[in-house]
Amino acid sequence: METDTIAAISTPMGEGAIGIVRISGPAAFQVADQLYTGKKALAEVDTHTINYGHIQDPASGETVEEAMVSVLRAPRTYTKEDIIEINCHGGLTSVNRVLQLALRYGARLAEPGEFTKRAFLNGRIDLSQAEAVMDLIRAKTDQAMNVAMNQVEGKLSSRIQTLRQKLLETVASVEVNIDYPEYDAEEVTLEMIREKGTEVEQAIEELLTTAHQGKILREGLSTVILGRPNVGKSSLLNNLVHENKAIVTDIPGTTRDVVEEYVNIRGVPLRLLDTAGIRETEDIVERLGVERSRKVVKDAELALLVLNYNEAITEADEELFKLIQDQDTIIIVNKTDLAPEISLDQVKELANGNPVITTSLLKDEGVDDLEEAIRELFFAGEMEGGDLSYVSNSRHIALLEQAKRSVQEALSAAEGGMPIDMVQIDITRAWEVLGEVIGDSVQESLIDQLFSQFCLGK
Ligand code: GDP
Ligand code: ZN
Repeated sequence: METDTIAAISTPMGEGAIGIVRISGPAAFQVADQLYTGKKALAEVDTHTINYGHIQDPASGETVEEAMVSVLRAPRTYTKEDIIEINCHGGLTSVNRVLQLALRYGARLAEPGEFTKRAFLNGRIDLSQAEAVMDLIRAKTDQAMNVAMNQVEGKLSSRIQTLRQKLLETVASVEVNIDYPEYDAEEVTLEMIREKGTEVEQAIEELLTTAHQGKILREGLSTVILGRPNVGKSSLLNNLVHENKAIVTDIPGTTRDVVEEYVNIRGVPLRLLDTAGIRETEDIVERLGVERSRKVVKDAELALLVLNYNEAITEADEELFKLIQDQDTIIIVNKTDLAPEISLDQVKELANGNPVITTSLLKDEGVDDLEEAIRELFFAGEMEGGDLSYVSNSRHIALLEQAKRSVQEALSAAEGGMPIDMVQIDITRAWEVLGEVIGDSVQESLIDQLFSQFCLGK
């Protein structure tokens, strides 16, 4: 297959003082040397060097940029192709001009994720690592970053490889049994399937239990703030957003009709939902009707219900308690700086086991307790600092679940005395499905779809 040479801006749009234009492919040097003037032509300098020079428009001879240019020769590069990276200092316009020149002199604009796609297609990284690169770009908190890093380093891949190996051994044993029916290996084979199959099933189960946390770390815990007018919802929102580093998301290519704001609460990324203003709404039930508001609350993973310390519980409050019945909720009794009119006993009863926190947002009191409650709710004690090689990607989760089912079917077929070749079908299926996680046996269309989700320039 013939490959062309691609180029893109590989730094976040509009951010930072330096912008990098990355060019990758067989004609990378040819393209860059038309634009670059320095001590030596780029084609003549050593690989993995940074070279000072100027970028000029060959047509006009005009100098566009003073630039540091990295030269990276195949195959020891991200894409395994020749790569030139032009570091520009002049802000967005000059980065854009350099890119335009590269495109005019032989490069094609890279599709989103195309650099990483090439890394994958050229065998530098496997699919789960490629997906992790995408997660890294989007990582919302340090912990999410760690999960993605572990995956980039291939931890998930190597665990999957081990499981596949085990399955392969059973298949091989079954194979022997089919080929030599007179050799009474049936018992041995069944024993092996029981043993390895159970091991694999448990290992997949383990991976899956980390999946829920991983997904939240990656995507954020979707959160709604509920409460009657004037209880302090806006104040709470502002406090959470301003006291904590708000996480700006700017993922090109994803259109969202829901406005979201991310805040990092002690390592837990909260995704504060604002679907049509519901994130912070004065009377959710009145505005949307009972059914829709129930759905919004249900779809969220966490509800923060705010009450007023200075007023007795009202009927509207009780309505809201009904709404959050089956939901992870933290009850916040706000305005403790004012006279106590609410019955905290009544609140605790209505809270039905959910944590109740008292705050004075006006005096910035109690917010620590709230943050701690959020952290505890999420980590439930055990997850922290432990093995962060979670599975965090919904495609991986679906495949692992599928693999688990196949292994279970194999196990029960083996138990039920089904013919060995029937058992083999299930084992092989599990082996294939696990292979899909790391990109063995995936169809081209899937690959295209995955890589198109990347940011431009990665
Ligand atoms: P929302 O309608 O639920 O969004 O409530 P707001 O956050 O807009 O707050 C309503 C009013 O209560 C504002 O005047 C706030 O300054 C005030 N407020 C918020 N929190 C507190 C608090 O802890 N104590 C007191 N005394 N007033 C508060
Ligand atoms: Zn408000």
